[in-house]
Amino acid sequence: MNPIDSDNCIFCAIISGKAQGEILYQDEQITAFRDKYPVAPVHILIVPNKHIVSLENLTVEDESLIGKMVLVSKKLAKSEGINESGYRLVANTGYEGGQRVFHLHLHLIGGKKLGIVIG
Ligand code: 5GP
Ligand code: ZN
Repeated sequence: MNPIDSDNCIFCAIISGKAQGEILYQDEQITAFRDKYPVAPVHILIVPNKHIVSLENLTVEDESLIGKMVLVSKKLAKSEGINESGYRLVANTGYEGGQRVFHLHLHLIGGKKLGIVIG
């Protein structure tokens, strides 16, 4: 399977409703759903509806899209009740960056005290 092929992309399938996902937010540009293998009590993925492979594939035309993804994440942190306790927003990018699903996504993680992880 070609990892950058939208026809074989699990996140494209969730966005379009072809695959099951617990969708918490959706508009014409962005979808957010719970991670299937959560690493914390709150673990939500915020994704663009269009198949963008990673941060590396963003262009200047996507400036407002990525800004909106961050603001949707912030709203979800509030609705999940972790805005005051704190949370982490992560975009693993490329294979060495830990990316395994090659459709751009932000991980919103929280609901417990997270360890300090850099590298
Ligand atoms: P990455 O390592 O690419 O940054 O993160 C991919 C994330 O997608 C992982 O946290 C993984 O648990 C999640 N994931 C993989 N397959 C599925 C799926 O079919 N449904 C959902 N909701 N999450 C998935
Ligand atoms: Zn996709």
